[in-house]
Parts: sequence; structure tokens; C-alpha cells
Amino acid sequence: MPPAPPAWASPNVECILANVIPHSRLETLSFSVRSGGSKNHLWKPLPQWIAALKLNTNLAAIREIRFIVVLYDLPDSTADARKDSERKDLELRHTLLTSLPGYVRRDGFSTSAARRLMSTSGFTENQLTVREAVLTVCAQFPNTYWQERDQNEQDPKEFHAALSKDGWLGIALPESLGGSGLGISEATVMMQTIAESGAGMQGAQSIHANVYATQPLAKFGTKHQLESTIPNIISGKWRVCFGVTEPNAGLDTLRLSTMAKKLPDGSYSVTGQKIWITCAQVASKMILLARTTPLEEVKKPSEGLSLFCIDLDRSKPGLELKRIKKMGGRGVDANEVFFENYRIPADTLIGEEEKGFKIILHGMNAERCLLAGEALGLGYAALAKAAEYARTRVVFQRPIGMNQAIAHPLADAYMKLEGAKLATYHAARLYDDSRNDASMRQDAVGVAANSAKYMAAEAAFTACERAVLTHGGMGYAVEYDVERWFRECLVPRIAPVSREMILNYISEKVLELPRSY
Ligand SMILES: Cc1cc2nc3c(=O)[nH]c(=O)nc-3n(C[C@H](O)[C@H](O)[C@H](O)COP(=O)(O)OP(=O)(O)OC[C@H]3O[C@@H](n4cnc5c(N)ncnc54)[C@H](O)[C@@H]3O)c2cc1C
Repeated sequence: MPPAPPAWASPNVECILANVIPHSRLETLSFSVRSGGSKNHLWKPLPQWIAALKLNTNLAAIREIRFIVVLYDLPDSTADARKDSERKDLELRHTLLTSLPGYVRRDGFSTSAARRLMSTSGFTENQLTVREAVLTVCAQFPNTYWQERDQNEQDPKEFHAALSKDGWLGIALPESLGGSGLGISEATVMMQTIAESGAGMQGAQSIHANVYATQPLAKFGTKHQLESTIPNIISGKWRVCFGVTEPNAGLDTLRLSTMAKKLPDGSYSVTGQKIWITCAQVASKMILLARTTPLEEVKKPSEGLSLFCIDLDRSKPGLELKRIKKMGGRGVDANEVFFENYRIPADTLIGEEEKGFKIILHGMNAERCLLAGEALGLGYAALAKAAEYARTRVVFQRPIGMNQAIAHPLADAYMKLEGAKLATYHAARLYDDSRNDASMRQDAVGVAANSAKYMAAEAAFTACERAVLTHGGMGYAVEYDVERWFRECLVPRIAPVSREMILNYISEKVLELPRSY
């Protein structure tokens, strides 16, 4: 016999209508309410939001109802206006929560299903709000969606569209360009949440270049470049890929040889090859790192590189893409990109010519934080699934989780993830602080960001591998998802910088050991 529904859960319960996801085992029901336009716009339709809702779900399973109100596009963005809007947000939540008969207030992040594996401590209200709201979007894309994308190698374009529709691709871009003006701390929460929802690296990779590769553009781009590109990227009209890795340079990025040769009219002709370029098949723009002076003609290898934001126009001569067959995250394309005298206009250059390496560094620490968040998400998703299986799978007439050989590795994986989580959000916070504090050097932030990426990737690998083993034979079945996450969790170990190179970096820069290569 199922337990009786809570007293408040009559089929006509009064509550806010939006994104109700019927789910037979739902424990937390979230409603995301977003308001565009002015503050007045937010407040006026409030009574209309409160409507009778026939809950098409298993009411008995619901233990909590949670409302999320995201304010965005406020016309004024001064500190006072923000404080005011935050206060109103809290008031609004209070009003709505208390209007629910029988609502049980639960403040603890770790006490509800959605927050079980991520405690509230140390997170800001903004970060928690991002997590809740992004979870609501992700809930529209169940694991079967991601299994199909992976099996059929289909781009998750609906997911990209859903996130861009709600403005999430602009999370760390300036408000003046239509972004949310939040930091990498919030963007990392977003990426963790996406991966943890079950979307894994496929979900993360389908959008993450839009978040990190646009950072150097936002910082160094001209007014015209920004106004003509950023709004189209945030709206989802254009997708972005990041073109750095080359087959003959590998991790020795400074040895890349793709040349952007300046022509008399100021435009450039690009010739060379990139490899492993994620989303190039669906992207309209590429943030491209290329040489404008050959390696032999510069004093230091870090000189003579330039950064461009170029069109990926497949109808133009000199551009060819070749998709790479890969192990995991197969819904998201990875490519070899061949340039042969591919013409790009002068105004595609970002910042100063020849200073491309310094410019791109501004995106790299951010990228490491995001990747760390994605790895955490994968690890927590795998661990949750493993723990659920260990609780319910009965062999030798007892749950397999009763065996310490199953329980202890999962407990160990949990603690590794928790440690990596602290390192990740510490690094993201340092990155955000460094944007307003010139005394905080990027190489110091780099130590934190690289360490976090390393720890999170290793912790994710541990969790995913143990999740597969906990499931026994079913760990090998697509239906249980853990095999998909296991394949994907190798990506943060390899990219954007390998674990070996991070160990080299820490040995040399922190421990002052002689450089080994
Ligand atoms: C799924 C996926 C998506 C990617 N997406 C993108 C993208 O969108 N854009 C992009 O530009 N790139 C992308 N990459 C490329 C990625 O950043 C590189 O694969 C990564 O930086 C490693 O470079 P490499 O493959 O050339 O390895 P290599 O440089 O060939 O290294 C091979 C191995 O040797 C080790 N090694 C090399 N030198 C040393 C040394 N001195 N000491 C110790 N060990 C060493 C490395 O750690 C590694 O284990 C992606 C890669 C993958 C797998």
C-alpha cells in the first residue's frame, strides 16, 4: 500500500504554474518563475501565477515543494537596485511558501532530494538560485534523452535551445550585453548542475564553449564585435567552438602552426589544421588561436600568436570539417578542422595582434573551473545512482550495500568528491575576486584552478568506476547510465590540459622543482 498523500496535496492545490514535470518518484517539486522586463512587470502578474493546478504526479511521494524566482533583465543594475530586487525575491518566496497549506519548511540543502549531495554551506544565494533554476530546465531532459543522443550521435540541440531561451548562456557575460553579469562561481554551479542532472559531459559540452570561450572576447573585443556577436550567442542563434589544439603541437600549445597571414587589404588568410574541436559542426563562430608570425621569427614561443572570432562558413572555400568517432559524449561532435587559404576579415581579430596568448589565458583558468564543476557533477550523479542500487539490489538475501566491500568504496568516493568540491569553488571564488583585485595574479589563481580540475577529474573517475562495479553486470547496460558517465569521465582527465601536465605545473611552479620537459 502506498503511503497516504500529505494533507495539502489535494488535486486542486493552489500553487504557481510552470514547468511541472510528472515523475512517479519525484520527491521535490520545483517551480521556476522568471520575470523579464521591469520590477513592476514582476509584481503585477503575481496573482495570475497563483492558479489551480491538477498535479499529475504521484502526490504521496512528494515531500517538499520549492519555488524558485529568478529576477533578470532588471532595467537598473545598481547595487541598491540589486539589493532591492533580492529583498523582494525573498519576500515573494516567503509569501508563496506560506500560501501552501501544509508546507513543511526545510532550510537545509542536504535534506531535500535535489540538494542531497551538495550542502548549502559556503554557497551564496545566487549560486543556490542558479542551481535550483538550472535543475528545473534539466529536468525536462531525462536520462533516456541523453542515452539516445549518445547512441545515435545526435546533437542535443533542444537542450541548448532550452538553456539559451532562459538566458543561461549569458550567465558570466556583462549585463550591458544582455548577460546576467554573474561570475565563474555561478557558471561552475551551472555546469555541475547540468552534468549532475544526468546530462553528463554531453550536456556540458554542448554549451560550455559559449560560456568560457566568450570570456576573452567580452574582455578584449571592440564595441562593434561585442554588440554584433554576444547577443546572438546568448540568444542561442549562434553557437561557438574553441579552436586551439593542433595535431602536431598537442599540449605544447605554443608550438601551434596554423597561420593567419595578413593580406594587403587588412584581412587574413588562414592555413593549418585544428583537432578535437567540439561542436564545430553546429557552431557559427570559432574562437581561433593562430600564428600571425611564424615560430622561427619570434624571440619567445608565446609571441606571434593572435586570437580571432571567426565565422565558420562551410559554404566558403578553404574550410573543411571531418567528424571524429569517439568513445563517449557522442551526441556532441568533435572534429578535425582544415583551413586552406580561408579568408577572414580584419575585424575578426580580438584585442591586439601578436598578443593572442596573453589574451586567451584569461579564459583558461575559467575553463578549468568549469571543467572541474562538470567532473563533480558526473561524479555525484554516478555516486547517487550507485548508492541507490546498493540500497535496493538484493543478493544473498541482503542489499549489496550491506557489504562493506560495496559501501566503503562509495563512502571513499563521496569524500573525494566533497574535497574536490571545496577546491573547485575555492578556485572559482579566487578567479572572480581576481577580476576586481589586480594584486591577485593569474598564475596564483592558476595553481588553484589546475589543482581543482585535477582533483575533481580524479574524484569523478573514482566515483564513476565504482558506480559501474557496484551495478555488476547492469553497470555495463546503457539503461543504467553509469557506463555512459564512466566513458565520459575520462574527458576532464584529458582536457583541456592533461593530468600529467598539471602535475608538471604544480611540481615546477609551486614546489620549485626543476622542469622535467
Ligand atoms: C572530447 C574532447 C574534446 C576536446 N575539445 C576541444 C576543443 O573544443 N578545442 C580544443 O582546442 N581542444 C579540444 N580538445 C583537445 C584537448 O584539449 C587535448 O586533447 C588535450 O589538451 C591533450 O592534448 P593531446 O591530445 O594533443 O595530447 P598530447 O600532447 O599528444 O599528449 C599525449 C599524452 O602525453 C602526455 N605528455 C605529453 N607531454 C608530456 C610531458 N612533458 N610530461 C608528461 N606527460 C606528457 C600527456 O599528458 C598525454 O597523456 C578536446 C579533447 C577531447 C578528448
